[in-house]
Amino acid sequence: RAKEQGRNTYCIYTPAINSRTSELLIIENSLHRALERGEFVVYYQPQVNTIAGEIIQMEALIRWQHPTLGFISPATFIPLAEETGLIVPIGEWVLRTACRQNKAWQDAGLPPIRIGVNLSARQFQQPNLVEMVAQILSDTGLNPQFLELEITESIAMQNAELTRSILMEFERMGVGIAMDDFGTGYSSLGYLKKFPFHTLKIDQSFVRDLITNPNDVAIITAIIALGQGLNLKVVAEGVETEQLKELLHTLECQHMQGYFFSRPLPASDATKLMGQARKKDLVKLSCLAGVS
Ligand code: C2E
Ligand code: MG
Ligand code: MG
Ligand code: MG
Repeated sequence: RAKEQGRNTYCIYTPAINSRTSELLIIENSLHRALERGEFVVYYQPQVNTIAGEIIQMEALIRWQHPTLGFISPATFIPLAEETGLIVPIGEWVLRTACRQNKAWQDAGLPPIRIGVNLSARQFQQPNLVEMVAQILSDTGLNPQFLELEITESIAMQNAELTRSILMEFERMGVGIAMDDFGTGYSSLGYLKKFPFHTLKIDQSFVRDLITNPNDVAIITAIIALGQGLNLKVVAEGVETEQLKELLHTLECQHMQGYFFSRPLPASDATKLMGQARKKDLVKLSCLAGVS
C-alpha cells in the first residue's frame, strides 16, 4: 500500500486497483459497525473420526453478511480485522457464541463434543486473554475440556515466551490447544516440543493434491508419524472427496474435516447433522453438505 510506503512513493492507479481499493475501504468502514449491527454469524463444521463414525468436534467459523455487499469471506475481512484491532471484540464474540452453542448442544442431550475456536495473533497481545476465556467459560457454563483453541505458527513465533506462558495457563485450565494450518509456517518442530498442543491440523494445501502428488503423501505420512510419536491428535483439513478419505485412511489418519463430510453450517443445520450422526452412518453426513 502506498500509504505505508511513505509520502514520496509514486503509485500508478488503474481503474481495477481503484475499485478494489474502494471496496476494501467500504469493507473496512463497515467492519467497525458490523458487530453491533448483528451482521456476523457463526457457522460450524464437523471434525469426524472416520473409524468410529462419529463427529468428535465442531469448528466455529465466522461469516459476515454485509447489508449491501452480501457475503464477505473471512479470508477477506479477518486480515482487516487484525490490522485494525477489531478482531479483539469480534474474536471474543465468536468465542462466546461458540461456547454458548456447545453448551446448548449438551443441554439438549447430544453427545458432548469439543468446539474449536480460532484465535488471532492480536488476541494474544491482549493482557487479559486468559481471563477473557475463563470468564466466557464461566458465563456460558461450558466445561473447559469441551473447548479447543486453534492457533497458527505465526502466533507462536511472534512472542514465543509470552505465547508459551499463555498456552500453559490454558493447559492448566483444561482447555485444548490445536496447531492450525500445520506445515505452512516456520519452525513447527521446535514449537511442538515447547508448547502444550493436543492437536495438529494438517493444512489443506498438503491434502488437496494427495492423490496425484507423492511428495504430499510423504509429508502427510511424516506428520502422522510425528503426531503419533508425540501423542497428538492429527486432523486432516480440506477432505473433499471419498477417494481422499480412503487414501488418508490407508495412511492411518482417522480424524478429518472437509466438504466431503460437511460444509460449515449454520447452527440449526449443524444441530440437525449432529442428531443424524448420532443415529450413526457417516455416509449421511455428505447428504447434508452444500447448505452454506
Ligand atoms: P481455518 O481455521 O484453517 O479454517 C478452515 C477453512 O477451510 C475454513 O474456511 C473452511 O470453510 C475451509 N474448508 C473446510 N473444509 C474444506 C474443504 O473440504 N475444502 C476447502 N477448499 N476448504 C475447506 P473459512 O471459513 O473461509 O475460514 C478461513 C480462515 O479464516 C480460517 O482458516 C481461519 O484462519 C479464519 N477464521 C475463520 N473464522 C475465524 C474466527 O472466528 N476468528 C479468527 N481469528 N479467524 C477465523
Ligand atoms: Mg481453524
Ligand atoms: Mg486450518
Ligand atoms: Mg487457515
